[in-house]
Formats: sequence, C-alpha cells, structure tokens
Amino acid sequence: MTVTEIRNPATEAVVATVPASSVAETDAAIERSVAAGERWRELAPGDRARLLRRFAAAVDADRDRLAGLEVSGAGHTITAARWEAGNVRDVLDYFAGGPERLLGRQIPVAGGVDLTFQEPLGVVGVIVPWNFPMMIAMWGIAPALAAGNTVLVKPAELTPLSALRLAELAIEAGLPDGVLRVVPGKGSVVGHRFVTHPAVRKLVFTGSTEVGRQIMAGCADQIKRLTLELGGKSANIVFADADLERAAATAPSAVFDNAGQDCCARSRILVERSVYDRFLALLEPAVTGLRVGDPADPGTEMGPLISAEHRTKVASYVPDSAPVAIRGHAPDGAGFWYPPTVLAPVSRTAPAFVEEVFGPVVAVVPFEDEADAIRIANDTVYGLSGSIWTENLGRALRVARAVETGTLSINSHSSVRYWTPFGGVKQSGLGRELGPDALAAFTETKNVFISTTASGSGA
Ligand code: NAP
Ligand code: MG
Repeated sequence: MTVTEIRNPATEAVVATVPASSVAETDAAIERSVAAGERWRELAPGDRARLLRRFAAAVDADRDRLAGLEVSGAGHTITAARWEAGNVRDVLDYFAGGPERLLGRQIPVAGGVDLTFQEPLGVVGVIVPWNFPMMIAMWGIAPALAAGNTVLVKPAELTPLSALRLAELAIEAGLPDGVLRVVPGKGSVVGHRFVTHPAVRKLVFTGSTEVGRQIMAGCADQIKRLTLELGGKSANIVFADADLERAAATAPSAVFDNAGQDCCARSRILVERSVYDRFLALLEPAVTGLRVGDPADPGTEMGPLISAEHRTKVASYVPDSAPVAIRGHAPDGAGFWYPPTVLAPVSRTAPAFVEEVFGPVVAVVPFEDEADAIRIANDTVYGLSGSIWTENLGRALRVARAVETGTLSINSHSSVRYWTPFGGVKQSGLGRELGPDALAAFTETKNVFISTTASGSGA
C-alpha cells in the first residue's frame, strides 16, 4: 500500500502517514456512496437536518483538535485555525436549515397543477486544495448533504488530516455509513476518477486555474455538473481620500494572512499617485512589525509556507533584481519560511504583478484616477476578490460595480461569510458557494404536471 508522509510545515517533522487510495479503492468508495444515497434521500427532512446539527455539535466539541491538525498539518496559526474550526461548525449549522427549506414551486397552468421539485443529484465529489483544508471541504460537504446528496472528499495530498477527522466526526454524530467519505490520495488518481466515473454527478473543485481547466474539460464528456473556485490576483484599491492609516495598517493582513496562500489575497495594491509615498511609509511598520513564527503560539500572525517546493516557487517571483521596498522577518532553520515582502515600484508586466504568487509577496503600483484604477484592476485573467478604500460613497459603489470580480469589500478586507455568496468571475471560477443560493447548486429542478381534467374529456 502506498502511503503519503504528512509534514509539519513549521518543523519539517513527519506528523502522520496516510494511505494513498488506488483507482479500485476509489471505485469501491463511489459504489458505497451510491448505495448510501438511497437511505439518505429517504430520511425525513427534519431527521436529515437533525443529523447535520449533531454533526455541527460534534465539530464544536472537537474544535481544539481540528484546529491543532490545521496547525501541525498545514502550518496555520492557531488563532486562524480556531476561527476556521468555528467556521466549519457554523457552515454545518447554517446548511442544517436546508433540508426543511428545499422548496419547490407551484406554477399556474391550464388543465392541471404544475409543481417543481428540487431533486438531489446523487454522489457529489469535493476536491480540496491544501491552503484551507477543512474549511473548503465543508463549504462543499454541508450544502451537498443538506440537499440530499452523498459526498466523497478528495483532500489535497499534503493536507488530508483535518478532512479525515471530519469524516470520523460525521460517523460519531450518527450520519449513516457512506454518506460522507474522505478518499485520500493523489489528484491524478482519486481526483481524476471522480471526473471520469459516471456515478459522480457533480464536482466541486477548488484549486489552481490550470487543474480546474483540465477538470472542466474532463467533465464535458459526461456533461457533469461543476463548481470551480480557482486562482486570484485581487486588487486592493486605495484612493487619496481614504482613511490611509487604516488602509495601510490592514493591507498586510489582506495579503499575508495564511502566508499569502489565500485565493482572495489582495496581492496587488493600487494607490492613487498623490498618496503613494505616504501609503508606503505607513505600510512599512505594518509589514516589519508582523509576527512571523511558531504557528502554535497565539501571538503569531504569520506561519510558514506549505512545502519546500512551494517556497521555491514563491521565491522565484522575487529574483535578486526585484524591487524589494519592504521586507519583514521570518525564522531561520527548519520550516518552510518566507518573509513578508513588498515590491515597489513594479512593472505592470512583471510576473509578480501578473501571476498568482500564492505566498507573502505583494506588489504596489500607483494609479492616476478612478478610470485608471479600474483599468489596472481589471487587467487580469482573474476576478475573485478585492477591496476599495475611499470615503466617497458614490465612488466606492461606482468602482465596486466596475471591477470585474465576484466578491468585494469597501473600507474592509472581509470577503467570506458563510451566509453570503462566494466565487469568482473570468478564470477565477464558475458558480457560487455559500450563501442562500448554495443549495440550488446541489439540486436539479424537476417539473411535474398533473392533469386535473375530468376523465373521459380527452385532454
Ligand atoms: P491544485 O494543484 O489545483 O490542486 C487542488 C486539488 O486538486 C488537490 O486536491 C489536487 O490533488 C487535486 N488535483 C490535482 N490534479 C488533479 C487532476 N488531474 N484531477 C483531479 N484532481 C486533481 O491546487 P493547490 O496547489 O492545491 O492549491 C493552490 C491553488 O488553489 C491556488 O491557485 C489557489 O488560488 C487556488 N484556491 C482557490 C480558492 C477559491 O476559492 N477560489 C480557494 C483556495 C485555493 P493533489 O494534492 O494530489 O495534487
Ligand atoms: Mg498543486
């Protein structure tokens, strides 16, 4: 049996070994998932809701352990990991309200009654990246289960531990066997089988645009339903009339949280030219003051990168000739560390300005006016997130409507709330997760007409 060694990114120590599933094992899991679907769909809505609430309670009781797995297995800071465990619980609680609210419609027609039903799809495959292992898994799991589907999760090879724990908690909470199963292994084996196996009726893929494109092409064969959450190169747009102190103080967290390994990272800061120098001066202490180190220490603000290989990729965006304007600290020695790094002034064609770095590197450029800011912000294949800083309400809303992106914040960097929609435009993705419409993405609408014409009338 092949196994994968899971390393603590802060120490490089092996913390666990996890079996890598084969195609045959994946097929067996899919078959069990199909079989479990019959029972799951037939449960009364209130019973399905109750089981999901119990699952949420089991997560709540296990929050410390789940958070600990995200610290030792993914390098998250303990503060962030605790929040993530709470988010996993809350997402389950929110979608536990779904089974009793899967409403159909009654549409007026002649000669009868027309009804719609929101039918489950069957088996849903959730393919998860390594950057937010348990949170992203749950954003797919909870609405899919609530809508009456069974779920198979393919965690990232590097970070399967928290998802495996979630599957144990589901069993403890009383979810029937096979309703939620985690299949650890390689994307090219397990993930690919989710794409090709006809019994998997929908895929939720979060990861790179490159792999997302391959998966979309693969899904075309069976017209398989698909939600894609892909990369980003989001802009943080700072106008001269903004609260500059607050904009500068918060800009580091908007890009360096999770060591920049966040698809929503505002990795391009666009600053109106008249305040460009002042903004950089205010940004400096916020970057050099970032506490980078042991993720298990509650005072730590930024941890390591996920792997040595990923650190090499991040470092390639900062060659010796790069215009490093500000550089924060990072520990020496074991662990995949990289210091928070601000590049300015940056050419608009520099790879660090164009490509998703997925590390603690941000590029700052000046803009001339509102139209110029919008043009630069939209000059990317991505469109996931972004922020706008201005005290002018009309401008804030004008720019928010003009920036081509799925999720924006004004005078703030918050972007993901489980009860509001999340997703990207252009090559950042397809479809939306979370929020009030997420259940619909895990159902098909079925239309049924019932004739009320008296028998013998011939209609
Ligand atoms: P990735 O390489 O695309 O991998 C994502 C997942 O897909 C992993 O579980 C991977 O398995 C699997 N996979 C790889 N090749 C596959 C294939 N041919 N068929 C099926 N599955 C396959 O992404 P990553 O490197 O883990 O994560 C970084 C990327 O995720 C970034 O680009 C980031 O922007 C994006 N991301 C987007 C969002 C969002 O919500 N929009 C959120 C988080 C991350 P292995 O682990 O075995 O390779
Ligand atoms: Mg990858």
